[in-house]
Amino acid sequence: MKKFSLKKRIAGSVAGMSGYVPGEQPAGGNWIKLNTNEFPYPPSPKVAEAILAELGDDGASLRLYPNPSSQNLRRQIGKYFGVPAEFAFAANGSDDVLNLAVRAFADASLSIATLDPSYSLYPVLAKMQGAKILQIPFKRNMQIDFERIFSSGANIFFFTNPNAPTGVGFGAETVEKIASGFGGIVLVDEAYAPFADCSCAPLAEKYENLIVTGTASKGWGLAGMRVGWAVANPAIIEVLDRVRDSYNLDRLAQAAGAAALADAPYYAQTCAAVISERADTEKFFDSVSWKYYKSSANFIFFRPVLNGKTGAKIAKDLFEFMRSRKILLRYFPNDKKISDGIRLTIGTPKQMASFKEAALEWLRQKRERI
Ligand code: PMP
Repeated sequence: MKKFSLKKRIAGSVAGMSGYVPGEQPAGGNWIKLNTNEFPYPPSPKVAEAILAELGDDGASLRLYPNPSSQNLRRQIGKYFGVPAEFAFAANGSDDVLNLAVRAFADASLSIATLDPSYSLYPVLAKMQGAKILQIPFKRNMQIDFERIFSSGANIFFFTNPNAPTGVGFGAETVEKIASGFGGIVLVDEAYAPFADCSCAPLAEKYENLIVTGTASKGWGLAGMRVGWAVANPAIIEVLDRVRDSYNLDRLAQAAGAAALADAPYYAQTCAAVISERADTEKFFDSVSWKYYKSSANFIFFRPVLNGKTGAKIAKDLFEFMRSRKILLRYFPNDKKISDGIRLTIGTPKQMASFKEAALEWLRQKRERI
């Protein structure tokens, strides 16, 4: 064989990058998993029914390719958000939608802008595409620096709403201000919108530069199925269609996603349970004087306080203490802006009771030591 060096063969944009590191998915049971913002309840019972119906007695339908454009699912997405089906796009989780948006609307000369902190996948996608990314810091108290967004010169602006990892939500007037003031494409990542006051997806009928993405992973209990979507003007959908895989959603995912979106009453009830548990958790943080952002998502970003102090050491200590009790939280040691905090997914009342009990135990142990 001729001398071969893999290093020299890797595409320039990929050579210097690291992949996105998702939250831990531990093997084995017994974990209280509050680290990756999954829904704490099972999906609607209609989802399993729809999957079984799609499979039939012997799974024969799996011989055939699925509908290439997920037509029925797109219809349901349109129905759910009150927009025509031509405004809907479906993909393999919303990460896939974000990836396709970067593929379609960014390159070496078309840059990306986003806020900081924000979803840490965006810089990875930018690197992969060889596109520059401008991360615009929030002003004090999570205020948005609109002028910097408008003068960024970026081709596409990613706006996570509610924000991750802080959970802070912004109203429709903020989205409208950005969509009308920014010259390029505005992508609003609404992964956590089911836990906020409203979705801005219907605004895609008003703003031709707006893409609103969503996912069945968080508010519909289907992280394991990989169903995501975008709502946008049909001209944008046509561009996304050019760059996606021809069969980008399997038959079971299409059936599951459509059945979930069709069962609004079930999700109204279960999302309300998460929101109520979130309020109880915020009360708990008040009771121990821990700092947190008021959340519009299914998680809370908080800063544990020990003897009047916060900091990365304290947050790490609590994270590790919880882990030793098989309670998994999300800690971001490599980002200085947020390494003094922890992101806590809202679980069932029982899971949250375990979290609170462990938090009080940690406080007792640490206070005694000082
Ligand atoms: N957007 C944000 C802000 C997220 O936190 C996540 C989940 N990590 C996603 C998108 C992607 O979700 P999924 O690919 O499961 O649809």
